[in-house]
Amino acid sequence: LQTPKYPNQVTGMYILARALRMVGITNMYGLVGIPVTDFAYIAQEQGIRFAGFHHEQNAGMAAATHGYLTKTPGVLLTVSSLGFLNGLTATANATVNCYPMIQISGSSEREPIDLGQGTYEGLDQLSIAKPLVKAAYRVNKPEDIPTAVVRAYRAAISGRPGGVYLDITTPCLGAIMNMADAEKLFYKPVDLVPAMVPSEESVKRAVELISSAKKPVFLIGKGAAYAQVENKVKQLVESTGIPFYPMSMAKGLMPDNHPLSAISCRSTIMQQADVVVLIGARLNWLLSRGHGKWNSDTKFVQLDIDPQEIDINRPIAAPVIGDLDSSLTAILSQLGNHKTSMDPAWVTQLQAETKVKKAKLDERLQQNASTQPMNHWTALSAIKPVLESNPDVILVNEGANTLDDTRDAVNMSQPRHRIDCATWAIMGMGMGSCIGAAMATGKSVVAVEGDSAFGFSGMEFSTICRFKLPVTVVIFNNGGIYNGIGVNMSNDGDPAPTTLDVNARFDKIGDAFGAQTYYVTNPADLKNALSEAIASKKPCLIDVQLAADSGKESGHIGYLNPASLQNIT
Ligand code: ADP
Ligand code: MG
Repeated sequence: LQTPKYPNQVTGMYILARALRMVGITNMYGLVGIPVTDFAYIAQEQGIRFAGFHHEQNAGMAAATHGYLTKTPGVLLTVSSLGFLNGLTATANATVNCYPMIQISGSSEREPIDLGQGTYEGLDQLSIAKPLVKAAYRVNKPEDIPTAVVRAYRAAISGRPGGVYLDITTPCLGAIMNMADAEKLFYKPVDLVPAMVPSEESVKRAVELISSAKKPVFLIGKGAAYAQVENKVKQLVESTGIPFYPMSMAKGLMPDNHPLSAISCRSTIMQQADVVVLIGARLNWLLSRGHGKWNSDTKFVQLDIDPQEIDINRPIAAPVIGDLDSSLTAILSQLGNHKTSMDPAWVTQLQAETKVKKAKLDERLQQNASTQPMNHWTALSAIKPVLESNPDVILVNEGANTLDDTRDAVNMSQPRHRIDCATWAIMGMGMGSCIGAAMATGKSVVAVEGDSAFGFSGMEFSTICRFKLPVTVVIFNNGGIYNGIGVNMSNDGDPAPTTLDVNARFDKIGDAFGAQTYYVTNPADLKNALSEAIASKKPCLIDVQLAADSGKESGHIGYLNPASLQNIT
């Protein structure tokens, strides 16, 4: 192995770090080992903040969250073979969710891989990554690194954002170049995120449809949150008086308790709205693909950056293809010249329904407010007021019942302050997302986690503590996946497939890493603990003891099970 004579000579690793800085990368999330350890050292030296994790999937979730919150690609660093594969799960998830990220992985030398001879951590990583990401490139020569970084950046962020894989071979990472030659390779790319302006015709079509609608609704997705168009959405809603409905991660783009919020009128919208304007939201399974309860006469306007998204599940009457900022600007300027035909009774109807639904929710919280042992709604009655009075805290949320009930109970009032299991409804995004959110924004974060969900990434609580992040993790422990009362049908003494441990003391995990911890069994203590934890701006962990029978199979999506539990017991 040759060592470069710094500063006259540098390696591929140095070139990679410089190229990343050149495009503006400031943070990297990952896990080192052969062959990328020295690269992480050099990146730190070059001013890139490096967050070292325990498992690559969690580092990838952090990078994806960083990308979502900053509108710039988050970067994940992995070692070869298993490290690469672990990280790829997060990169694939980012691609599905349209989060921009770049997974950079070291890989082994090509020859033994291409000839199937086997080598240390040998795997044909590029071929494996390709079908799961938006773009994938391999770099074999240090001279190509700056070009590869710019291409990866552009691919991650332009058009529909997504995950990009950059495979850098060990020989390339270690290759030596003269500094003077390396310096000539760097360049500042021009217009990394080009605006994409919609056609006038498409805007006209959309505006005519919107202004002719009697019962229109704006349906806002996390694409709008990502695109940071809250001011334009606000202007659109308030200038037209048309009600809006946010998807889960778009909650807070407009306040959930805004007078035109129709967040609790989902079924009514599906059945009665005549024109639905999708703003950075997909008509995917989370919206019954436009079927099910949806009225077959409803017409759709769809604002999206990706032309291939149109007509996927229902014909789209007025597609507007462009970046949301450009599309909303164009629509707003055209709408000014039109009168809307909205039936005022539509708004009154939705507002009346909202009132009834809110009363129901309040009653539910009230009825459970002092139940012992606590259930999900008892715990939520305690944390809802604390979270709502700390609107600038980012809420990370995963689980089954813990996800569904927290989403329904806690109103959001700031854009990009809710990060959850998203499009795939996966578990395991929790701690990584907390770390990415805290590092990308400097803000405080509260995670509300099911006990099972926490288990997927729980070890990263140590990372939260090492980096002294203002993150509070709240674990709703009902002792299981769904709940802690599953039945083992063979009676062999093993726990049921869904059963974890309702007596587990998660707070002691926090103790191990020096966090401020709490074990709470009643709502008053929970409320105090959460208030104190947020105020401390330090790593905190709150173990919330729930009853083992709190929660139901699959939360709100039990209907997706091939057979319900009732049918098999
Ligand atoms: P949700 O789950 O909230 O419905 P989705 O992830 O399903 O949100 O949809 C987000 C949509 O937003 C995607 O179709 C994506 O192409 C689109 N999108 C993302 N960024 C932009 C942007 N800057 N401009 C326009 N559309 C965007
Ligand atoms: Mg549970």
